[in-house]
Amino acid sequence: MSFHSMWAELLPIGRAAASGGYRRFAWTGADADCRAWFAQQARDRGLTHEVDRNGNQWAWLGDPAAGDAVVTGSHLDSVPDGGAFDGPLGVVSAFAALDELRRRGARFAKPLGIVNFGDEEGARFGLACVGSRLTAGALTAEQAHRLTDAEGITLPRAMEAAGHDPGALGPDPERLARIGAFVELHVEQGRALDLSGDPVGIASAIWPHGRWRFDFRGEANHAGTTRITDRRDPMLPYAETVLAARREAALAGAVATFGKVAVEPNGVNAVPSLVRGWLDSRAEGQDTLDTVVAGIERAARAHAAAHGATLDVTRESFTPVVEFDHALRDELARILGTTAGLKVPVLGTGAGHDAGILSGRVPTAMLFVRNPTGVSHSPAESATEDDCTAGVLALADVLEGLACP
Ligand SMILES: [Zn+2]
Repeated sequence: MSFHSMWAELLPIGRAAASGGYRRFAWTGADADCRAWFAQQARDRGLTHEVDRNGNQWAWLGDPAAGDAVVTGSHLDSVPDGGAFDGPLGVVSAFAALDELRRRGARFAKPLGIVNFGDEEGARFGLACVGSRLTAGALTAEQAHRLTDAEGITLPRAMEAAGHDPGALGPDPERLARIGAFVELHVEQGRALDLSGDPVGIASAIWPHGRWRFDFRGEANHAGTTRITDRRDPMLPYAETVLAARREAALAGAVATFGKVAVEPNGVNAVPSLVRGWLDSRAEGQDTLDTVVAGIERAARAHAAAHGATLDVTRESFTPVVEFDHALRDELARILGTTAGLKVPVLGTGAGHDAGILSGRVPTAMLFVRNPTGVSHSPAESATEDDCTAGVLALADVLEGLACP
């Protein structure tokens, strides 16, 4: 089955008519349809299909017990109103790359695996990469059992309803020990390849990433009767801080976003007593990220003081930099340079991936396919047919280089 027809089969699954975006949330009907599609692709190619203890799907050519397996794949779930490419491009390209290698008459010296990681986006239970985290031991079964969706349905209940036994959730070191290399192909979630003019790139690292809560406290008061000079309005230092975040990030080549804000009492005719804003910031290196966030906090404190407000800053989460395996990355660059004569840029990314979760346990690399607008997690996410083909061929070259020496 061609890339085109695989893509066409997946296209209607979980698509919201109103937005044109996808709602393929973990353990829902749309997810089940995606899983059935994956199992069918495996069967059509004579691959061994299995679902592991954590609900990830695997399709094997050869016996994974032989070890040193070469694995590729991604995820099929989506964010709310997500695009068609984030995830599925890596899975469809994996099957298409295998087809291409069979056409070439490739002889595999190692087992080849194709994987669909469960619940990568975390759209339903609020935590990303649940399938790969459980497998890598980065999330315990107890923690997974407590995950609950907006309707109050727990992850184990949702799994059970979808026909998966949640009793065996947990780390799977034996499975990971059988993998010699994992390569995830993904649509780029930025414009680096568009700007460099290349269809395919190799990931260097996932940027360190943190979330901070800024609580500005002032004094609630009447919006009509309180003189300007008597106000302690926390909205003002918050507004200055949003601008400072933009400035600091731009200066450092980083990103910083206040995308969520809560106001108390949240009345149209009241000076607020509290403005709580959440900062998401990411940068190529830890030092840069520290500098950016320190700069934003310094500005926030100065503006809070100037407006008679107080400020508390709480770091709510932090993920350090993920460096992909250097030897594997260099091997990918060598393979693509020699077999395809491609100049393949090496780029960092601010987005998290299953590959990032696995990279602590398994030599891991990523290939990115150009996204002309850079837009992602939106129905506007795209890649041209030519670039998708370039991605499939690059992945086939890489798999051939790694598994057919
Ligand atoms: Zn993704």
